[in-house]
Amino acid sequence: MISRFLSFFSLLAFGAALGFSWAVIGDKLQPVIYMLVGALIAGVAWMLVDAWRGYRVRSWLRHGDLGIVPEMSGWWGVLLERARKLLRERERSIDAGEQRLKDFLSAIQASPNGVVMLDANAQIEWCNQTAALQLGIHPERDVMQRIGNLLRDPVFTAYMAVEQPNEPIVMAGRKDRVERPVRISVQRHRYGEGKQLLLTRDVTMLEQAEAMRRDFVANVSHEIRTPLTVLSGFVETLQTLELNAQEQKRYLSLMAVQADRMQGLVEDLLTLSRLEGSPMPGMRSVLPLAQLLQSCEQEAQGLSRSISNGAEPQVIVFHANPELVGASLFGEVRELQSALSNLVSNAVRYTPAGGHIHVSVDRGMDGSLCIEVRDTGPGIAPEHLPRLTERFYRVDRSRSRESGGTGLGLAIVKHVMQRHGGSLSMSSELGQGSCFRLNFPAARWSLDD
Ligand code: ADP
Repeated sequence: MISRFLSFFSLLAFGAALGFSWAVIGDKLQPVIYMLVGALIAGVAWMLVDAWRGYRVRSWLRHGDLGIVPEMSGWWGVLLERARKLLRERERSIDAGEQRLKDFLSAIQASPNGVVMLDANAQIEWCNQTAALQLGIHPERDVMQRIGNLLRDPVFTAYMAVEQPNEPIVMAGRKDRVERPVRISVQRHRYGEGKQLLLTRDVTMLEQAEAMRRDFVANVSHEIRTPLTVLSGFVETLQTLELNAQEQKRYLSLMAVQADRMQGLVEDLLTLSRLEGSPMPGMRSVLPLAQLLQSCEQEAQGLSRSISNGAEPQVIVFHANPELVGASLFGEVRELQSALSNLVSNAVRYTPAGGHIHVSVDRGMDGSLCIEVRDTGPGIAPEHLPRLTERFYRVDRSRSRESGGTGLGLAIVKHVMQRHGGSLSMSSELGQGSCFRLNFPAARWSLDD
């Protein structure tokens, strides 16, 4: 500021001096007047130049383009430099703020959970892609739309009407269909001045898992209760009635059947839980195919004899492609044995007396190994086939129970095959018989070992 005054007064003095010199050289009277006029002209000139510089600074400030800062010295130059620095700092902090906001929004976008921000009028301010997909709203087109106009589910409407909701609600998602339900959990939080945050989460799998757990517990309880009831009935009979030795023997053998049934169920349940809880089978254990077939064949013949009860025997044939005689499977020996043994025992149990059971092994075009168990039993209607590997699913409950089935056999087989990278497939025709196939990928077997 001092330099500004100095420059102004120096120019006044210069103008006055020029006026004085003019008066002296021209021999004019009253040189003071010339001095005053000189100073006045110099003052006006200074002001004009100053106003022009001020105008340039003002017009630059109006658009504030940091790329073209006018070149200026003196007081206006200092002012310009300060303004430029301030603008630059502000621009930097705006950029940093914008970057932070972008990072924040992309983090919310990447979240597997949905986020919807509502203003004080419950209008959508912003929502991420997940929320848009789950709730069926458009992240751009529906901005500033009232959420209540877009989501008409009565459960949601009632939830939005509550002043301070504590618990989240679960409602149908956008893609909810009868055959494929989609359940979305929505939780509302208040923030800022009357604003609201909706957090959404797809809980379909969770709900399904919970329903499966409930069904499973109910099924297990039911399966255990039935033989237990029969057993306690027999115990009561033995305690209350005077039975002769022969009758006692008969009751005890009936009790043994029920106890075996419960044992079978517990064993299958333990097998399933072991399959679920243990690590994936490695490639170190080797099970020679011949050994697997031999043990299953012995088991099948034994089971067939024990259930035939003097009726016409079943014809059981095991046959492997001669090329595969030396083949071996890699994986968990006990699991592999239980998979084939389950299929073979099903074939024996469900095939009537005199029927045929044929177990064959061959290689597939893609290098896989296929073990096929074919029978001439009652066959299975096509609508049951996709559900056979569900736990406790049976086509004919009483038939399965009579023959000592637990309803878990095929679930175990499917699990074992999945753990070995293979698959279980089946085909059947009512009245003609069934065919179950175990497919092992090329990596799970070899001819050399
Ligand atoms: P289960 O212990 O009842 O045999 P599984 O899981 O092994 O249970 O089989 C499920 C159901 O599939 C059986 O209850 C039966 O109805 C049907 N099933 C399985 N194998 C055969 C077969 N070879 N022939 C006819 N039905 C079969």
